[in-house]
Amino acid sequence: MAFENLSERIQKALKNLTGKGKISEDDINKASREIRLALLEADVNFKVVKDFIKKIKKESLGKEVQESLNPGQQVIKIVNDELTKMMGETAVGLNKSKHIPTVIMMVGLQGTGKTTTVGKLAYHLQKKENARPLLIAGDIYRPAAVDQLKQIGDKLKVPVYSEANEKDVAKIVKDGLAQADKDKNDYVIIDTAGRLEIDEPLMEELERIKKVAQPDNILLVVDAMTGQAATDVAKGFDQRLDITGIVLTKLDGDTRGGAALSIRAVTGKPIIYTGEGEKLSDLENFHPDRMASRILGMGDMLTLIEKAQQDYDAKKAAKVAEKMKENTFDFNDFVDQLDQVQKMGPLDQIMKMIPGMSNNPQLKNVSIDKKQIAHVKAIVSSMTEQEREDPDILKPSRRRRIAAGSGRPVVEVNRMIKQFKQARDMMNKVTKGNMKGMGNLPGM
Ligand code: GDP
Repeated sequence: MAFENLSERIQKALKNLTGKGKISEDDINKASREIRLALLEADVNFKVVKDFIKKIKKESLGKEVQESLNPGQQVIKIVNDELTKMMGETAVGLNKSKHIPTVIMMVGLQGTGKTTTVGKLAYHLQKKENARPLLIAGDIYRPAAVDQLKQIGDKLKVPVYSEANEKDVAKIVKDGLAQADKDKNDYVIIDTAGRLEIDEPLMEELERIKKVAQPDNILLVVDAMTGQAATDVAKGFDQRLDITGIVLTKLDGDTRGGAALSIRAVTGKPIIYTGEGEKLSDLENFHPDRMASRILGMGDMLTLIEKAQQDYDAKKAAKVAEKMKENTFDFNDFVDQLDQVQKMGPLDQIMKMIPGMSNNPQLKNVSIDKKQIAHVKAIVSSMTEQEREDPDILKPSRRRRIAAGSGRPVVEVNRMIKQFKQARDMMNKVTKGNMKGMGNLPGM
């Protein structure tokens, strides 16, 4: 997880201030020094760090803090507020066009995650707005990029516009937009070529595409792993193209976090999304305040809740609730539920978003045991349809057959069935209880 080190060090520096009735200038100087080093080591831009520390010191030494009941808490609040400001204060969304389609042009160096992000964004818009995007394959120099985009399009059932033998990208973009007009797509997302570094032919081509497409959004995709260098790249692209926002990818990796913290301050352009994994669902809206809380170990419950809502299949949940009520929850539903939990991602990352949990050393080894889930699934898939729907018929001879079929010991099969029944009974009691509380429904 990004920011791990930074987070630990800042929290340690601040911990020394809490619980004190009075904070001396010396205390603040010491904490500031530690925070400064932590930020520099996280690869935050030097000038950004300097400004940040100056503000922290000034405010912490102010009368308000000094005279407050709990000055340590006040300093934490100041650090939290300044970190938030550093990353842009409030969340920023996409620019929407008055007429459809809203056009989004993606730019960035090669390998930063442009093509992947085009797919993630299409998925995000489908989920959030029921959108019908069209994707344009504008990275024609890397044939694999066109195929990659087509595969993503197939997966999402989203059309991808490409022209096999056309060498003029601006023409492809123009034709793609005409197609979107005809089909009344509400979004067009344009993938463009990248290079290993900024060069003149690339910039000229992007300028030509911009002229033709008149995009409402030019999103620069930046790899968070590149640290400080990311801010220079961002400046380069911004000078030529006047980008509207930034997508910071690979924040799930072991990055030190410097790019996330300084790119806004250096370019003046907002981070709009973050990429937090390789899956199409791994894109998050960027909220500076939530990110600051995460760094300071104060948790990020809002993102957690949104994630659960986004990844949870509402139709399936409603079906399960209905089945619980009718007491017909069976092994098929059980496997569905396991899949839902797995979809939310690694458990340790989820737990870190809960306030107070982020620095819990016990979390280091927490994870859903994928093997165990695979075993449960193997056992269930060795059952007949009738057995899955009616677990009460699972007598010893059937259990032995299931054990042999799944390659798991009979005791494990027995244990799993017992746990399933306990869970089902409990659900049944809970739902019955709730129904009673709701009044006199007929038949209850
Ligand atoms: P492009 O050259 O800019 O189009 O880059 P690609 O979209 O092909 O991505 C390059 C690599 O980065 C691929 O292996 C992606 O799976 C990976 N990638 C993209 N975004 C993320 C992210 O947010 N997290 C992680 N871990 N990998 C990512």
